[in-house]
Amino acid sequence: MRVLLVEDDSMIAQGLQTALRQAGFAVDWTRDGQSASNALREKVFDLALLDLGLPRRDGIEVLRELRRRGDTTPVIVLTARDQIQDRIAGLDAGADDYIVKPFDLDEMMARMRSVLRRAAGRGDTVIQHGGLKLDPVTRTVELGGKPVSLSAHEFSVLEALLQRPGAVLSRTQLEDRLYGWDEPIGSNAVEVYVHGLRRKLGSEAIRTLRGVGYFVPKQ
Ligand code: CA
Repeated sequence: MRVLLVEDDSMIAQGLQTALRQAGFAVDWTRDGQSASNALREKVFDLALLDLGLPRRDGIEVLRELRRRGDTTPVIVLTARDQIQDRIAGLDAGADDYIVKPFDLDEMMARMRSVLRRAAGRGDTVIQHGGLKLDPVTRTVELGGKPVSLSAHEFSVLEALLQRPGAVLSRTQLEDRLYGWDEPIGSNAVEVYVHGLRRKLGSEAIRTLRGVGYFVPKQ
């Protein structure tokens, strides 16, 4: 899952970025409203965390423009404790939820899961594929009813492939799901994750189409 983090306070942003990456999200961080608008126009995000008091362009404006375009990307607004008017304005402008700073990281994650679940349009977002069960919300995987322990990156690769069994994803497409703008990418990182997944799920779980990419065979 790819998250856009819009926050001009570096300390908050860096803390959030680290926590989100540890939880397996690819995070793109932008510090001002104009860059946020541009990013939202150019790329597809699963969710945006949007501060309201931003340089160059107010967060509310960014949100209004997004919704005017008919873009339904889930947005959680980040507001200061005493700014009740901000929260109301955020919700009125089309935010899916808000969270008050300083916030608890566990609460943040829970709200993100809840918004993502709602955005998926159903309470149950679990992907079932043969004996494999993947829950994007709790980020857990079971094989034949038994829990399988995956790293955050292995999980993201598997999730991307399971969304469309049979469809081949190139290394670049998978890297795009794994990393934010400024994260260094190891040259063989995707191969390493696929190798790890095969070791844990069986050698046939993920196939290679030589020179093209990887896919999960259709059932
Ligand atoms: Ca701010």
